[in-house]
Amino acid sequence: MPFICPRRTLLAALPASVAACAAPRLTPPLPSRGTRLVLAPVDVARDRIIRIDVGLRPFRPAGFVVRNEILGDKTIVHNYGHGGGGVTLSWGTAALALEQAPPARHCAVLGCGAVGLATARLAQERGMQVTVYAAALPPDTTSNVAGAQWWPSYVYDEDALTSAFRVQFVRAAGLAYHRFQTLPGETYGISWRRNYVVRATPYREPPPDDRSMALTDLCIECRILEPRENPFRGFFTRQFDTMMIEPALYLPALMRDVREAGGRIVVRRFNTPADILRLTEPVVFNCTGLGARDLFGDYDLIPVKGQLVVVLPQPEVTYNMIGDAIYAFPRRDGVLLGGTEQRGVWTLTPDQAEVTRVLAAQKSVFKSLGYRDTVTEGV
Ligand SMILES: Cc1cc2nc3c(=O)[nH]c(=O)nc-3n(C[C@H](O)[C@H](O)[C@H](O)COP(=O)(O)OP(=O)(O)OC[C@H]3O[C@@H](n4cnc5c(N)ncnc54)[C@H](O)[C@@H]3O)c2cc1C
Repeated sequence: MPFICPRRTLLAALPASVAACAAPRLTPPLPSRGTRLVLAPVDVARDRIIRIDVGLRPFRPAGFVVRNEILGDKTIVHNYGHGGGGVTLSWGTAALALEQAPPARHCAVLGCGAVGLATARLAQERGMQVTVYAAALPPDTTSNVAGAQWWPSYVYDEDALTSAFRVQFVRAAGLAYHRFQTLPGETYGISWRRNYVVRATPYREPPPDDRSMALTDLCIECRILEPRENPFRGFFTRQFDTMMIEPALYLPALMRDVREAGGRIVVRRFNTPADILRLTEPVVFNCTGLGARDLFGDYDLIPVKGQLVVVLPQPEVTYNMIGDAIYAFPRRDGVLLGGTEQRGVWTLTPDQAEVTRVLAAQKSVFKSLGYRDTVTEGV
C-alpha cells in the first residue's frame, strides 16, 4: 500500500446527481480529531474460524493488459491481469477496453468475474447486444474470493512499469472510483469504511514522482494519527477512507443487470483462440483473468495465491486494519483475515503454516488495543 494523503478535489468535482446516489456511509460517527480512538478488537481465536477461502490473483509484473488485436475476422479486446486489484479497477479498465473496440451491434465478453461483468455492462450502455461466455460463474470465480477493499493493491511491480501503463493505471483507477460511487450501496453491497494502516516503523513520504501512482487524489481522510489519538499502542497508525465491495452481493447484482438489459450469460470454456473464431460476434472482450495465460499464451501472467482465514462476524468491528503482511476486513459474512501473497503458487489448498502466521500476527496487533477509553467507535 503506497503512502497516500488527503485530497478532496475529485469528489468535490462530482456532479450533484452522482453525489446524490453515492454508496451510503456505514461507518458510524467518528470521534473528533485529537481524541483517543477506542476500537473493538477482532477476536482471532482459532476456534472462531468458519472457513478458509483461497484464490489466485491474475498478476503480471508489468500490470494489466488492455489492448486490441485482430484475430481472423474478429477484434479481440484484451482486458485481463489485474492482480490484487481486479474488483477495484474493473469499471476503469472496462472503460479503457470499450475505447479500443470498433463499433458493433453484437459483442462477446469472455469471463464472468468483476472485470467481465463491468465490461459487459459498459458495452450494453454503448448499445451493444452482449453475450457473456464463461467457464465458471459466480460464486465460483476469483472475484468472489476478493476482500474486496476499493484500492488497487498488488497490481504491478514498480521496476517493470512502462509510462504507457502508468497513464492507463491512473485513468482506470479514477474512472472506477467514480463509477462505484454511482451504484446504490445496499443493492450492490458497497459501503464506505475507515481503514487503519498499522506499522512498526514510522511512515515516510514517497518521492514526488511516485505520487500519481500513489493515487493521492483518491485517498480520502488520509492522515497519520497523532500519538494521543492512536489506539494501536506500540505501532504507528495512518487512516484513510475507502469503499468496500461485498462480492457475494455485488456480482449477482451485476449478472442481474446484464440479463435485465437483454444480455445472455452462457457457460462455455474456450481452450484455444480457434474456439473463439467460431463465435458469431465480431468483437470479443477477453476478460478471462488468469485463464488468459493458456488461452492467449501470455506467460507473464502468473498466479499470486491469496488466502483468507474467515472468523465469525463481529458487527461491532466497523473498521479495516491493514498491518505488515496482514489485514482484517469485517463483512456481514465474517471477518476476513488476509495478507498472504504467494507468487507462482497454483494450488487452492489452504496453507496451514500461513493460517498460523496470520493468526499470530493479527493477535499481536489486536492485543495492542487492549484498553478502553471514553470514546468508542462502533461499539
Ligand atoms: C485473497 C484475495 C483477496 C483479494 N482482495 C481484493 C481486494 O480487496 N480488492 C480488489 O480489487 N481485488 C482483490 N483481489 C483480486 C481480485 O480478486 C482479482 O483481481 C479479480 O477477481 C480479477 O477479476 P477477473 O474478472 O479478471 O477474473 P476472475 O474473477 O477470475 O474471472 C475470470 C472469468 O473468466 C472465466 N474464464 C477463465 N478462463 C476461461 C476460458 N478459457 N474460457 C472461458 N472462460 C474462462 C472464468 O471462468 C471467470 O468467469 C483479491 C484476490 C484474492 C485471491
